[in-house]
Amino acid sequence: MEKIDWKNLSFGYIKTDYNVRCYYRNGMWGEIETCSEETIPMHMAAVCLHYGQEAFEGLKAYRCPDGKVRVFRTEENAARLQATARGLMMPEVPTEMFNEMVDRVVRLNERWIPPYESGATLYVRPLLIGVSPQVGVHPSEDYLFVIFVSPVGPYFKGGFATNPYVITRDYDRSAPLGTGCYKVGGNYAASLKANQWAHEQGYSCEFYLDAKEKKYIDECGAANFFGIKNNTYVTPKSSSILPSVTNKSLMQLAEDLGLKVERRQIPEEELATFEEAGACGTAAVISPIQRIDDPETGRSYVFSKDGKPGPISTKLYNKIIAIQYGIEPDVHGWTRVVIE
Ligand SMILES: *Cc1c(COP(=O)(O)O)cnc(C)c1O
Repeated sequence: MEKIDWKNLSFGYIKTDYNVRCYYRNGMWGEIETCSEETIPMHMAAVCLHYGQEAFEGLKAYRCPDGKVRVFRTEENAARLQATARGLMMPEVPTEMFNEMVDRVVRLNERWIPPYESGATLYVRPLLIGVSPQVGVHPSEDYLFVIFVSPVGPYFKGGFATNPYVITRDYDRSAPLGTGCYKVGGNYAASLKANQWAHEQGYSCEFYLDAKEKKYIDECGAANFFGIKNNTYVTPKSSSILPSVTNKSLMQLAEDLGLKVERRQIPEEELATFEEAGACGTAAVISPIQRIDDPETGRSYVFSKDGKPGPISTKLYNKIIAIQYGIEPDVHGWTRVVIE
């Protein structure tokens, strides 16, 4: 095994030893297989390739200071994958099978789990695809569910620091009655141009308003949004937002810290009233927002004048990390020890 510089890992793919797979054929799931191949043998007419019948998930395994390896709220990922499967007319992966495959792939790749001190983690990527050869749009007969892992460094190179965002009106990542609430590749394909545009303008990411009225806050790139004001955690309610496990957890932790929690429509102008704002998701956990610019109106909503994360975002970040790493008591039963 080549020496890995755990401290300088980027967020990307690194080959590990094993992945786990399970095929759905003749209306049922087969045996779970352990595989050391990185590639998937697939028909060129597979439904996933042409009509986007694919769903994915993302979670992490953490090497903890007590030496154990933990995963975080995988039942939530299983439930979300099931919702996505229903939305795209794919067979659901049962929660028990999902957890068994997560645990197996993490254990099989133990030597790829970065040490605690590095700040890096083992990213776990479940993928569900329709593999039957087909021309003509209808659901696949057969499916493949595969989980692979890759050690990853922090999502944003700066770590826990603030970033600038820009509101886009020229692109939508999803529609109100579309697939925004599902974790499907098509939403990401739809976001590539907006993301490139934002980067060209010098921003860390694009910021979406609701597709219908362009009035309300939707998502920050591929992360959920939250704002903090008057001791309240506010996050958007929208049918085109992906229900983030991180956001759901932060809402609970905010409540635990004595904050009020509101999930509702947030008009763009309300951004001016937030004391802090952040983007949240498994990859970045919390990425505090420095400011959000609106090129159409010329307005700039600034949440951090000195570029530092706000006190409540920092508190929430430290709290969730401490639970994920088994440092603080897991009072909500969110973690599972995969390796003792
Ligand atoms: C995965 C994802 C998130 C974050 O969800 P987590 O469960 O917190 O990782 C947010 N928005 C989009 C569009 C996503 O795909």
